[in-house]
Amino acid sequence: MSIQPSTQPSTHSSSPTYDRVVVAGGSVAGLLAAAALAPLSREVVVLERDDVARHVGVRPGTPQAGQVHGLLASGRLAMEELLPGFTDALLAGGAISRGDIGSNGRWWIGGGLLADTEVGANGVAASRSLIERTVRGLAIRLPQVVVRDRVDVQGLVTDGSGRVVTGVRLRDRATDGPAEELAADLVVDATGRSARSVRWLAALGMAEPPLERVRVGVRYATTHVERRDGDLGGRSVCVSAAVPRVPRVGVAIAQEDDTWVIGVCGYDEEQPPVDADGFRHYAAGVVAPEVAELLAGRALLHPPVTYRFPDCRRRRFDKVDLPRGFAAVGDAVTSVDPAFGQGMSLAALQAVALRRRAGRGLEDVRRRHAVDAAAVAERAWTVVVGADLNLPGVEGARPPGHGAVSRYVARAQRVARRDPVVARTLMRVTNLLEPPTALMRPRIALRVAAGGAASASVLRVTPRSPTRRTPC
Ligand SMILES: Cc1cc2nc3c(=O)[nH]c(=O)nc-3n(C[C@H](O)[C@H](O)[C@H](O)COP(=O)(O)OP(=O)(O)OC[C@H]3O[C@@H](n4cnc5c(N)ncnc54)[C@H](O)[C@@H]3O)c2cc1C
Repeated sequence: MSIQPSTQPSTHSSSPTYDRVVVAGGSVAGLLAAAALAPLSREVVVLERDDVARHVGVRPGTPQAGQVHGLLASGRLAMEELLPGFTDALLAGGAISRGDIGSNGRWWIGGGLLADTEVGANGVAASRSLIERTVRGLAIRLPQVVVRDRVDVQGLVTDGSGRVVTGVRLRDRATDGPAEELAADLVVDATGRSARSVRWLAALGMAEPPLERVRVGVRYATTHVERRDGDLGGRSVCVSAAVPRVPRVGVAIAQEDDTWVIGVCGYDEEQPPVDADGFRHYAAGVVAPEVAELLAGRALLHPPVTYRFPDCRRRRFDKVDLPRGFAAVGDAVTSVDPAFGQGMSLAALQAVALRRRAGRGLEDVRRRHAVDAAAVAERAWTVVVGADLNLPGVEGARPPGHGAVSRYVARAQRVARRDPVVARTLMRVTNLLEPPTALMRPRIALRVAAGGAASASVLRVTPRSPTRRTPC
């Protein structure tokens, strides 16, 4: 079946109305893009390859869903903007909120524990499965949004000029029928890290967006344990970031069903083992003692599940001349080291940006959306890649001034152990509530300069287990 391309978007009052938007990929980024575009469209069709209804949690298209996931404050607020009622729905589904994200967590950053501080935004802890399910539940309630599962998007369809996307080519896996075309005014690529549109654009003879990569070679392992009253002093998150001397991350987040999800990951040679004893031993070697404490005396509810993340990558859609009627969001644009927990939030912030551009018309989307999406991602890229490039085995181009910036940030992290004002700014930057330059503002720079020397020697180094490589 072939559906004819629709006409150009008609305009009502100040905003264009699209007859149909097609979103390729029905995970977090795709569903949020659909929510963003729904008010501007008669119909938004989300095409998802997996049979989502059949899979609870991890499914073939989102293998990362079994790993520990945190939701940044900026991401939750953007999701709330796109899907009003999101936070309440998440809480109704079993998510946990214990107030401000600063005072509600134990944040071991740069080798030490940050001072208790108020960040100015509440944290909500939930599994990735609950987050995606909640986003999906709210998105499909929007009258314009239709989600079709088991549909493989295979390419873009253009008009005679080849410069205007008029729809997608797809195959319905449920019927196993022949390829179809579905017309659209705007096609959004939300197919994740593999960014299928790179091939679709190439097939149309268009320039491939340059790919920037930083090889991190991270391996994750995640399990769950029972959660008890009084754990972590009533807080719901503990994050232990990697530092050059201890290139391991440990994360514990309170989850629904009275559990903690506990994830560890290591860079390069520092690979976590997959057996229960090895996992505990490895967790005892992260900077924060709390991660091992939460594991002590508790059975692992399932064997650790692993995931390999070879590289941070961003596709510079902003550097090529894109056809009209096309946009990309989420991991398809930028996939950063997940240890910083930014992916879903970047997707939400990019969806908000896409709504703004789409409200001004397709030419604005064509010319400006990729620049906006890259700017959103840049904040995360700067923080993550800047930190990762100091870790052993991480390979990538160092940005100009990397050494000086790293030394300044390390100093700010040390000061933040005692100074709640610096800790607050650090937390706001890592939560994407403020740009990295917020750390350089005179008020903060003065505190960093004044406090840096005094607090320079507090790195807590715990005994580390021997490094063990695990099979892929
Ligand atoms: C180990 C790990 C831990 C992470 N931890 C965090 C965290 O703590 N916090 C956080 O915010 N983020 C985290 N992330 C990132 C997060 O999982 C993603 O950013 C998030 O899922 C949004 O991604 P996405 O929707 O762009 O892509 P994905 O979630 O990868 O989804 C892409 C979707 O597109 C579908 N698809 C692919 N090709 C086609 C096609 N041709 N046709 C139709 N459908 C198609 C797939 O089936 C899939 O559903 C982590 C990632 C990893 C790997």
